[in-house]
Amino acid sequence: MSTIFDDENVLHKGLVPPQKALGLVLKDATSIDVESVDLLHCNGRVLAEDISAQRTQPPFDASAMDGYAVRQADVTATPCDLKIIGQSAAGHAFQGRIKKGEAVRIFTGAPIPLGADTIIIQENTKAPPQEKGRGIGFHICVLSAEAKGKFIRPAGLDFSEGQVLLNKDQVLNPQSISLAASMNHASLPVFKKPNVAILATGDELVLPGSTLEASQIIASNTYGIAAIAKEAGANVLNLGIANDTFDDLKNIISDAINNGSDLIVTSGGASVGDHDLVKPVMESLGFVFSFIKIAMKPGKPVIFGRTIIDGKERRFLGLAGNPVSSLVSSHIFLKPLIQLLAGKPPEFVKQIEATITQPLEANGDREDYMRGFATRMPNGEIETEAFTKQDSSMLATLNRANCLIIRQVDAKKLNIGDKTPIILLQNI
Ligand code: AMP
Ligand code: MG
Repeated sequence: MSTIFDDENVLHKGLVPPQKALGLVLKDATSIDVESVDLLHCNGRVLAEDISAQRTQPPFDASAMDGYAVRQADVTATPCDLKIIGQSAAGHAFQGRIKKGEAVRIFTGAPIPLGADTIIIQENTKAPPQEKGRGIGFHICVLSAEAKGKFIRPAGLDFSEGQVLLNKDQVLNPQSISLAASMNHASLPVFKKPNVAILATGDELVLPGSTLEASQIIASNTYGIAAIAKEAGANVLNLGIANDTFDDLKNIISDAINNGSDLIVTSGGASVGDHDLVKPVMESLGFVFSFIKIAMKPGKPVIFGRTIIDGKERRFLGLAGNPVSSLVSSHIFLKPLIQLLAGKPPEFVKQIEATITQPLEANGDREDYMRGFATRMPNGEIETEAFTKQDSSMLATLNRANCLIIRQVDAKKLNIGDKTPIILLQNI
């Protein structure tokens, strides 16, 4: 895995454009190891191998209806009476063979008795008027017959033993999981979920639910980041809060690495203040950085690095502390990275076009992701309005936003009715 030291991975100094940063974050990211998982827990997991059927389904010719199994030759002229010589139910096959003039009572899913080639559905029969009883030993009057073979599911109708029906890299869903069970697999080989450890950094931070002192702030970032990480397919480990000391940060992060974390995500301490220790700590742990700043607003201080420890590649995404920055960056960079590490196709944020309903100022040298509200109009077009206050600490505003309005680097002033690219945060 020498790739992490190739030309593309030298540190990109200065402000890296978001698209370039995304490319660097996703570079070489592939699914990690394979594990066998019980079918009950396979939904959303990704198959690591092609899977073939261990049996043929149905394994025998089976009836698709309730009725009578007969010989077509006996029912060419109807009505006619046939003698009922036994019954075949699901799980309880009739053991004999049907001969001329005979029928076997049969139920859906039951094996077709030897000698029978046609099913007469129950609705097309009646008991002959002269009979004193019903069932085995009595007769059934066939009123009309279907074509030969109708209502018989031939053996192998669904699939045959040895057939490959599920493919490597397929994301498992309820349909594929039921099929796997029917193929006689109790568990499936799937890619392991990447272990993602999330750490909040800052002396001012406390856990939600705490009694706060005057200068304290709740460490809220972890929870939104964890939600994105889990949805993308990670095992999430919450590392809690690290103080702004080199040693505390280093101890917590190196423990997480030793315990098998594939990706460390920090929030806070990623810029260049006196208390921003994340970069030197990760450097001391051997991480090689791809970039340390992105030309993006919010979310300028974002660091990405990689290294190999104990023969395994480890990644590090250092996010800004500001709540909006950390979440916007997680949607854009963290989600597709985890999806790739989990073996899934990455889902990138999709830009669509919207019409603005208020003017927007010209933009500067960083791509701006403004919080806004988008509305789908009756004609299908989307209108959008940016919120007045865009401070990257404002979570209530982010929660009200259903879109991010993208202002490209040096974008010109826009007037009402002009078009802009947006990213939808939820379906509208
Ligand atoms: P920093 O990047 O450490 O300078 O933090 C920038 C701002 O984000 C500061 O106001 C911090 O208090 C705040 N902040 C840092 N980490 C978190 C967090 N985990 N949750 C909420 N706010 C945070
Ligand atoms: Mg801080």
